[in-house]
Amino acid sequence: KPQSWEARADEFSMYGFTDLPSVYERGAVIVTHGEGPYVHDVNGKRYLDANSGLWNMVAGFDHKGLAEAAKAQYDRFPGYHAFFGRMSDQTVMLSEKLVEVSPFARGKVFYTNSGSEANDTMVKMLWFLHGSEGNPKRRRILTRFNAYHGVTAVSASMTGKPYNEVFGLPMDGFIHLTCPHYWRFGEEGESEDQFTQRLARELEETIQREGADTIAGFFAEPVMGAGGVIPPSKGYFQAVQKVLKKYDIPMISDEVICGFGRTGNTWGCETYDFVPDVIISSKNLTAGLFPMGAVILGPELSDRLQAAAEKIEEFPHGFTASGHPVGCAIALKAIEVVMNEGLAENVRRLAPRMEAGLRGIMERSDHIGELRGVGFMWALEAVKDKPTKTPFDASLSVSERIANTCTDLGLICRPLGQSIVLCPPFILTEEQMDEMFDKLERALTQVFAEVA
Ligand code: PLP
Repeated sequence: KPQSWEARADEFSMYGFTDLPSVYERGAVIVTHGEGPYVHDVNGKRYLDANSGLWNMVAGFDHKGLAEAAKAQYDRFPGYHAFFGRMSDQTVMLSEKLVEVSPFARGKVFYTNSGSEANDTMVKMLWFLHGSEGNPKRRRILTRFNAYHGVTAVSASMTGKPYNEVFGLPMDGFIHLTCPHYWRFGEEGESEDQFTQRLARELEETIQREGADTIAGFFAEPVMGAGGVIPPSKGYFQAVQKVLKKYDIPMISDEVICGFGRTGNTWGCETYDFVPDVIISSKNLTAGLFPMGAVILGPELSDRLQAAAEKIEEFPHGFTASGHPVGCAIALKAIEVVMNEGLAENVRRLAPRMEAGLRGIMERSDHIGELRGVGFMWALEAVKDKPTKTPFDASLSVSERIANTCTDLGLICRPLGQSIVLCPPFILTEEQMDEMFDKLERALTQVFAEVA
């Protein structure tokens, strides 16, 4: 008898970021195709993917225009690099486009294959730049607890999650500041404004303690994604940026999740009203159809990096597939589709409906303590006791159980800590949104009845 797809997956593939006992018990979900926001598994079951794959399949799973753009470019010119003063016409056009849609008056773009590599590249750029300017000690990187910036050794060191300890990470010189989650980390009697000011003070004290001449840069996601969808506390980025400017420390906005429509605007920094020095993009950049990341440098850093590179006559960094023409052609089409063909508009139009629906679910439940999010990225935080915000015992794996029950019901959503995250594709309709609410609420009711 031939082995099942699930058994073959267990035997020959290694799962990343997966609760292994649960997968071995339940079987992996092996998907074959999709339409709109739905995916189908090998057994013929259909799921509404409220994760957009991994936040990235923002135009759904069968967008014809994107597939045609990819096919047309594969037919025209299927691959090239961006080394030795050569690059494809598509690469040139995408860089122009990215600078045009960025908040920068001018700038430069460098391409990678992933978000992790884009962050890693940016750290190397900062080290290169400060070294070239005679400040080789400016190597420390500031990020936040609960941040997610990727999995390479450098970007995992930036990620503020305890799970990286198993790799002996973070490396030295990566400093994690307090996560700006007021509901969870605000102190007794502290207003949201006071909380924000406390975090700005912590940043300044850290800079003074370490020495401003040792800090290379500050990285932040506008809304923390894989940390559990955590929007900043009120005024956070304005308060933080004031301190960074005082000490002349570059601010990098990691927009791998927030970029291109997820928060309702082109950029998360636009939604939270700040202009960083650099934007990191990936995921939505190609609507998930091609592995690609981009470092978009604003005017000041692109000039300084250019000068640093000219000093030694090169910037010795790059990936074989940097600026891949097919990736660039897809990204050009994805930007058009998301920004000009109504997808970001759909996020803006339906975000209040999504918030209201999830708020209703929270209000009807004794065990949802917080709803947080913006645009099409939301999280519901499960708590044992609402008034005291007491979490469930970790051994109960409440959010995993909720996500597993949702999977049984044909809804894919993601457990993160004790929260359930919903970040559907931008093409979601009202009817599909109602299906998401209905399945989610059924799963919550069932699981809370079991554990409470
Ligand atoms: N930065 C952020 C904000 C992310 O959410 C992610 C991935 O989820 C990354 C970086 C890493 O991107 P990749 O998985 O493409 O390496």
